[in-house]
Amino acid sequence: MVRYIFVTGGVVSSLGKGIASASIATLLQSRGYKVRIRKLDPYLNIDPGTMNPYEHGEVYVTEDGAETDLDLGHYERFTEINTKKSDNITTGKIYQNIITKERNGFYKGSTVQIIPHVTDEIKKFITSDLTNEDFVICEIGGTVGDIESLPFLEAIRQYSNEAGAEKCLFIHLTLVPYIKSAAELKTKPTQHSVKELRSIGIQPDMILCRSESLIPNEEKDKIALFCNVKKSNVFQSIDVRSIYEVPIKYQEEGLDRKILDHFGIASKKNPKLDNWKSFNKKLNAKKNKVNISIVGKYTHLKDAYKSLHEALIHASVYNNVDLDLDWIESSDIKNSKDLENKLGRTNGILIPGGFGKRGVDGKILSVQFARTKKIPFFGICFGMQISVIELAKNLLGLKDSNSTELSKTKNPVVCLIEEWTQGKKILKGEKYKIGGSMRLGSYPAKVKKDSLLYKIYGNKSLIHERHRHRYEVNSTYKSMLEKKGVVFSANSPDGKLPEAIELNNHPWFLGVQFHPELKSRPFAPHKIFISFIQAAIKNKNLNL
Ligand code: GLN
Repeated sequence: MVRYIFVTGGVVSSLGKGIASASIATLLQSRGYKVRIRKLDPYLNIDPGTMNPYEHGEVYVTEDGAETDLDLGHYERFTEINTKKSDNITTGKIYQNIITKERNGFYKGSTVQIIPHVTDEIKKFITSDLTNEDFVICEIGGTVGDIESLPFLEAIRQYSNEAGAEKCLFIHLTLVPYIKSAAELKTKPTQHSVKELRSIGIQPDMILCRSESLIPNEEKDKIALFCNVKKSNVFQSIDVRSIYEVPIKYQEEGLDRKILDHFGIASKKNPKLDNWKSFNKKLNAKKNKVNISIVGKYTHLKDAYKSLHEALIHASVYNNVDLDLDWIESSDIKNSKDLENKLGRTNGILIPGGFGKRGVDGKILSVQFARTKKIPFFGICFGMQISVIELAKNLLGLKDSNSTELSKTKNPVVCLIEEWTQGKKILKGEKYKIGGSMRLGSYPAKVKKDSLLYKIYGNKSLIHERHRHRYEVNSTYKSMLEKKGVVFSANSPDGKLPEAIELNNHPWFLGVQFHPELKSRPFAPHKIFISFIQAAIKNKNLNL
């Protein structure tokens, strides 16, 4: 029998519903249960693929090629279960399905309405495509009180009524703010948020209170009384140093035990969080530092590079070093003085994925700096494309080299595949639909024997990694670049698409067309990141 846990949020956004849902899933897993986590996003976009990272943060790509919310990245990192297209829905997608059906006469003349048609579609989403899970955890995006979330809340209310309360659990995550001048934690916002939830027919079974400090007993009493929950079902989610401490804290609070009690079931296993504890111990221990510089475009919003940041943390913990991360805005790099100022002390330069012109010149200068100064360099997706532009400009002397994403050029070293496969002439870029038209999801690549990449993957000649890009490195420039010491160390199985490049005469220079950060896990850091941090450690020791 599958049981549903609905996680809603109140008072403010950004309380960490994603981490809370992922932590609950982990705890249930550690008790021997099979879990699945799903995200219901109330916005009208079909998916976050077209959204500006400043609006939405990272777009997380699943194995099966969905562009999804960054919380799915947390789900995967915490549970080590790959998410799927069917684990993220938006209002946009729901309406798209309904309108397509309506146009095809599916509703046979009836009026199409929010209730029951939209709510039915939401219920169908939460219950479909399951594979014998014991628990499905559904995180409802947004904050209770938003107009947009209403159909989702109504749908889960209906579902619990239809499926039976014994199959469902409602957890409401709220904020209990600390008011400095009064030196008090305040429960009123939580009371109001629960009042709002109850007014639409949902009585939370448990309340999870985010707070800066320990919530005193009297405050818990108040929350229990005003929110109509048992005091033993009021939990606190205290601020912690790292997201990886959250499952441990929840277990100490007894949250997972209470969840099983609610459903009247026993633990299948003695829950051990030893791996989480030792990861945190290593993370918090005092260690030597290694400096990594991310030269990117959304450096003011770290959420835009969520998986990347986590992958660097995983690999640093693995290598027993402290990650000293510099976020560098590429448009601030204009000349060699800027390079020295911003990157003078770095042990490794990383250019992440990206889109569009802004800050490109600073990225090209950073690649050149890493290449000529023999600093470890790691280019991911756009970062690899930028490195090929730099190599073509400065090693081949083709000064007008560029990506057709950025400008028209006689030397399109990066372009749409159609631009070099359809005849010799460079065709004008076909007009692409912006949404959902990229190479997305997991693709195989063949790795060249004895390359750096081959060693990194433990002598594997076939790898699978996730992609999210529209442009490709133009393989007609391959042999010219190879003559200058560039190694095309991975290619698509048909040999057409370069998937990774490296440099012969450099300690560690790697560009990959895919996104390895999406597959890094705390207990299984991605091998490329492990190797990059090791190269940075070597660079630091050389410079001491
Ligand atoms: N803008 C580039 C492309 O579309 C790279 C995308 C990325 O870095 N994810 O191909």
